[in-house]
Formats: sequence, C-alpha cells, structure tokens
Amino acid sequence: MKAISLFMDVEDPVNPLADDAAKDFAELFTAAGVKGSFCLTGEKCRTLTARGRQDVAAAYLPHSLGLHTNTHSFHPSTMELLADLEWEEGCRAAIQAERPGMDAFTNLIGRPPEFWGGGGNTWSPEITEALKQIGIPAYSYALTEFADHAPHRFNGVVGLPQALSISELDWQDDDRAAPAVERVLREIEESAQPWLGIFVGHPTKFRYKHWWDIPYYAGRTPPTPEYGEPVADEVYEAGKQNLTSFLAIVSKRYDVVGISEALTRLNPFREPTLLELNEFKARTAKNLRSAIHWPIHRPGLSPELIVSKTLALAGTAQIAG
Ligand SMILES: [Zn+2]
Repeated sequence: MKAISLFMDVEDPVNPLADDAAKDFAELFTAAGVKGSFCLTGEKCRTLTARGRQDVAAAYLPHSLGLHTNTHSFHPSTMELLADLEWEEGCRAAIQAERPGMDAFTNLIGRPPEFWGGGGNTWSPEITEALKQIGIPAYSYALTEFADHAPHRFNGVVGLPQALSISELDWQDDDRAAPAVERVLREIEESAQPWLGIFVGHPTKFRYKHWWDIPYYAGRTPPTPEYGEPVADEVYEAGKQNLTSFLAIVSKRYDVVGISEALTRLNPFREPTLLELNEFKARTAKNLRSAIHWPIHRPGLSPELIVSKTLALAGTAQIAG
C-alpha cells in the first residue's frame, strides 16, 4: 500500500481563536483515527505554554510532530538571517536561531520533534547543520528538489518535498473541495514515489479570513499585535467537514504515516545519475530564487549567496528508492 503523510502547520501565535482552532484540528485527526503530521513553531509552543494551554499540547500527542522553525514569519526569517553570511558563521547563526525552538517544543510536548519544516518560503543550507546539531533527522517542505517530488538526502539530512496540497479556501467551499480532492487522489495514483507529502492547511487559516502574518510582510514588525477577522462559523465548520471526509477516503486507500515511519520506508538512498543531479541543481536554484519573493521577506534581499552555498553541497544529494 502506498504511504502518504498529511501535513498541517500550527504557527499563529497572535490571533485569539488560533489556539482553539489548533486543538480542533488535532482532535479532528484523532477522531478520524488518522495520524497527522503537524508542524508547530517554537513561538507557538512558547505562547501555548504561557497561556496554560496544556490541553492543546495534549491533543497533539497522538500525532507526528515537527518543529516549524523557531519563529516562522518574525524577522529575521531563515533567508534574512543567512543571506549574507559565509558558511561557518551561517551555521553558528542557524543553530543559535533554531535551538530555542527545539527547547520550547520539547518543553511543551515532552519529546523532541520528528522533523523540521521550513517556514513559508524561506531556506538556507546551514539549516541542515543546525538540524544535525540539535538532533532532527529530516526537513519537510524541502526547497531542495529532485524531479517528481522524490524524497532525498541533502548534507546528511532527509529532505521531504511537499508533493501535493489542498488550500483552506478549497476545503471551506463544497464546490471547490470536491474537484481538489479528486485531483489529489488522481495525482497520488499517478505518482511513482514510495511516499508522498500532502499539505492540507493551517488551522488558523481555516478560522481567519487572512494570513496571521500579514502585519509582518516586507520586513515589518508591528509594534502591537494586529488581529485578523474570523470567518463565519458555518465556513469554519464546512472546512472541517470536507477535510474529515477526505481523511475517511485516504485512510482506507493508503497508509497514512507519521514522519518517523515515513523515514523508515525511504531507505536505502542511492547516488543520483548525472542527469538527475543537474536537474536537482536547476530546480533547487530556481526554488531559492523564487523564495526571495515570499511576502514576509524584506525588500532588497539577494538569494545568490544562499544559492551558491546550497549548490556547493549538491554532491551530498542522494535519492530515495
Ligand atoms: Zn508555515
């Protein structure tokens, strides 16, 4: 049976209804008997701890949990931090940036994260050194990329691509959810990969009309919290209902696994052919140059040093299967 993992990001430390939404989705997966792969930011872990929301943490315990960077859209993002640093200095900065996330996660959840997920659209290869240092074996939403969403190893850490996704706006609208689900089911069938990562949304974006981090766009840090506008309760419920129906379908057809389980299925890794390696370099460079346009990033950021630091490690890249 094919293996898939279903990802959600839990990252909104600002909006008041975001904690309850986070709990709702953990419970939705638990009630469906499906293991979710949830990515929590260090900042979210700190705010849940500060607000005494152990109930939210407890709801997540049955699931596969990852660290979704320390602070996600707060500045500096991963690229903003590392764009101008040479390798050695960048590695020290990446470890220093991510270790507090690891500590906040472990403090709230009581166990270490199974994986690390890049925030939004941002990355630099020093992250792989940080992950080895703090003991995380894999990163999801990989911007390092082989053809066909092949899982891979890069600098000794497993890179898990996001092969497919369905957006919150699709889930919230019955007329959009049905064709989106059909498309994803078809693409799972067509894929030759042993494992596929499918992103199914952010609890906060089901609950609120706009992204929680809009106040942080273009390098800005708002002086006081700026709250979003919730969607109508019916819209929120429709989103949860359509996702629940999807979980019922995929859990019958596929092995929905957490990330530790996924990693055991990906071995052994092999050396890429020259053609595959060239494809890796081209796709990865393209992804990094386009990540600069993530709206969070401050204007004037250059991806070029990050591209060259990444491609300098291309010789370490290996493909699963
Ligand atoms: Zn995110």
